[in-house]
Amino acid sequence: MNIVLFGPPGAGKGTQGERLITLYGLTHLSTGEVFRRNMTDGTPLGDQVKAIINNGELVPDEITIAMLEEEVRKITAAKGILFDGFPRTTAQAIALDEMMTHFGKTIDHVTALEVPEKELRKRIALRKTRQNRVDDDEEKLNKRITEYYTKTLFVLDYYKKDNRLQSIDGLGSIDEVFARLKKTIEG
Ligand code: AMP
Repeated sequence: MNIVLFGPPGAGKGTQGERLITLYGLTHLSTGEVFRRNMTDGTPLGDQVKAIINNGELVPDEITIAMLEEEVRKITAAKGILFDGFPRTTAQAIALDEMMTHFGKTIDHVTALEVPEKELRKRIALRKTRQNRVDDDEEKLNKRITEYYTKTLFVLDYYKKDNRLQSIDGLGSIDEVFARLKKTIEG
């Protein structure tokens, strides 16, 4: 089972994603984490994306898609993949479909956590600093949220078109949201 978990910064993707991984034995593929790891290790890719990520902007599609393809190739034997933070643009969503076909896999669920912008800002303000995260800087956070609403939101339309999108109310306790998520996935 391959799942795309979708949602704006602060929607709870990380927390809910961890639970999905444990419950269904999925392999976690977080593009943000892969980028951060490359930045920490000082790889050419890390150096290439550092300034972009530290500004809260999206890494260009070409770089992100090539990186993701390489990561998927490493885990083709996985029981299932949880895509976290990808796709963030329509071009990435199209590339993901093509990639999955190429690897003989399918995206089984596209789930979007819905949280109003005001609540997102409140949650992020409470969130503790995580290494290499840029959340704490107001300006960068605004940029991240703007990137979401100007670029990433369109990805929902892409999946809505052929009825693949499952939206979930992301408000409430972690347990409540997870119960909704599980119900949506298991039908
Ligand atoms: P995340 O941990 O998913 O919030 O990602 C952290 C940062 O990595 C984002 O703010 C972007 O700069 C970059 N990033 C992660 N995933 C993508 C993606 N799919 N497309 C473009 N940039 C990304």
